[in-house]
Amino acid sequence: MTDTKRESTSSNRAAVIVTGASTGIGRATALDLASRGFDVFAGVRREADGDSVAAESSGAVTPVILDVTDAATIDGAALRVTDAVGDGGLRGLVNNAGIAEPAPLEIMPIDALRRQLEVNVVGQVAVTQAFLPLIRSAQGRVVNISSVGGRVASPALGAYAASKFAIEALSDSLRMELHQWGIHVSVIEPGSFGTEIWRRGGEAADSTIERVPEEKRRLYADLIAAVRRLARRTEQRGRPPDAVVRAIVHALTASRPRTRYVVGTDARIQMALARLLPDRAYDALVRRMLRSTG
Ligand code: NDP
Repeated sequence: MTDTKRESTSSNRAAVIVTGASTGIGRATALDLASRGFDVFAGVRREADGDSVAAESSGAVTPVILDVTDAATIDGAALRVTDAVGDGGLRGLVNNAGIAEPAPLEIMPIDALRRQLEVNVVGQVAVTQAFLPLIRSAQGRVVNISSVGGRVASPALGAYAASKFAIEALSDSLRMELHQWGIHVSVIEPGSFGTEIWRRGGEAADSTIERVPEEKRRLYADLIAAVRRLARRTEQRGRPPDAVVRAIVHALTASRPRTRYVVGTDARIQMALARLLPDRAYDALVRRMLRSTG
């Protein structure tokens, strides 16, 4: 991994760290922020991913090893960034790392539920705790990546939705707690964008379902097939996450950042329908939508 940023951070450029920057929204955000002149630290779990994002940015992004479920790497990353930015602190923390563990709740192995919450919820709090002193020094900002799933739950995505509902609650508390230091907290709520999360979620679902006894699996065969088709379509459509990146940049740079950014027409429509329709009418609409994927 390159250490080139250690010197350049003393140049008073605003520094930002993005977790989960190996692929998707995190990687696109790290590259975009670097192109805008930020000193970007990209949290990755593997050296090869760090080298790849650094190379794509022509060395403008500094990778740091950061697994949000591993206290040692969180502490190591915080030390490394502290060392690099000194008194300048951090202008932004983008809590982006996340996974999807899709499964109907009745048959979801409890270890998969724990993993979902450990990565998407506990990990984000642990990272926030580690970097807040640096954020406070720079009167920086925290940007938490939630989802439309943080406002509306879907079948077979209950655990994921629970993790994102939790992010919404934690962000509200954090926003109020940090107000006294002038630290803004924003939540990004994207609809569906074509990143690795869909393929990875499909693989996670496959390995989960394999562990479920056949008779239980059969109970949910139709739902699982419909959700798989939807995920595959979203992945194939491959909508790039540019609009999500723009929302993150706004949250980090605007003089009046919003507390919430709903990103994508799909997310806006889904939230509006869930808000306006009675629960059972909304449920029926979701059932119809899932049937229509067949
Ligand atoms: P990707 O799968 O492309 O990216 C997920 C990132 O999180 C990867 O860099 C991955 O790293 C990282 N990650 C996973 N587990 C850990 C961990 N334990 N510690 C540190 N990093 C980890 O998906 P997206 O870019 O789509 O997802 C980014 C965020 O956006 C997530 O929070 C997701 O929930 C959210 N989101 C995405 C939507 C979409 O449609 N794409 C919609 C709404 C929200 P590694 O390569 O090492 O696994």
